[in-house]
Amino acid sequence: MPGPTADLHLHTRFSDGTDTPARVVDLAHAAGLSAIAITDHDNVEALAVAEPIARRQGIELIPGIEMSASADDTEVHLLGFLFDPAHPGLTRHLAEQQARRVARVHEMVRRLAHVGARIPAEEVLQLAGEGTVGRPHVARVLLKHGYVSTTAEAFSRYIGPHNPGFVPGSPLPPSQIIRVIREAGGVPVLAHPVYLEQDELIAAFVQDGLAGLEVYHSSHTPDLVRRYEQIAEQLKLLKTGGSDYHGETKEGLPVGASRVPYALVEALKTWKAATAR
Ligand code: AMP
Ligand code: ZN
Ligand code: FE
Ligand code: FE
Repeated sequence: MPGPTADLHLHTRFSDGTDTPARVVDLAHAAGLSAIAITDHDNVEALAVAEPIARRQGIELIPGIEMSASADDTEVHLLGFLFDPAHPGLTRHLAEQQARRVARVHEMVRRLAHVGARIPAEEVLQLAGEGTVGRPHVARVLLKHGYVSTTAEAFSRYIGPHNPGFVPGSPLPPSQIIRVIREAGGVPVLAHPVYLEQDELIAAFVQDGLAGLEVYHSSHTPDLVRRYEQIAEQLKLLKTGGSDYHGETKEGLPVGASRVPYALVEALKTWKAATAR
């Protein structure tokens, strides 16, 4: 791709990635990216750590986050960009969500025990350290205790949607998450629509204030990219994209694996400047 590019979907150790923010910035620099968004799950702590490092390397760090929501029985991930990470409403939501995620681990551990997979909740929480705890941490502990032979198997047998150990990441509706992002001055974007599997929900989210669609993503085939480009055009949505880099959690998927022209970052800024919440 000629011209400056951006990867707008990256995870660090502050959620379920395995790299420090500094390492992610280094990898972005090596990949020739002009701008990045670190989008940890329900967590903004990597941003302050990465900011001075990115600045030194001449990389623009765009405030980012990936937040969980639920629509009926469907897990929905929303990205937020260009918000104020210190906004009180956002801070309050994230504190509540961190507590929900810890309670969720205990609930998952209880459900897993019912089907014979006994793992200590403490080990899962310890693995997440100071970052947001999530299903990949549960998967790694299931692996360590020999209940599965790969983390992928953990997601297909134990903790994926419709599996016995599954608990949604958040009970809150997308409308509420969209509001939190917008009130913090951010741009709300639907992440990896391929996992939603229900395109008709996208129009409903637009009614709730959704502004963009993650058209470009490492899990989107060229056919899917064309489909989501059309949907974005029909619904007048901004387009974003990124790799969804997780370090060793998702092997073989480097920083910059999916990237967008910098012009799409400028479009996000234009939308933000033109939109009074
Ligand atoms: P959580 O937010 O705790 O529900 O965890 C979501 C994360 O789990 C995603 O960002 C992925 O990193 C990971 N994940 C989800 N589904 C799978 C899968 N089938 N195989 C491997 N990792 C997955
Ligand atoms: Zn993740
Ligand atoms: Fe996601
Ligand atoms: Fe992600």
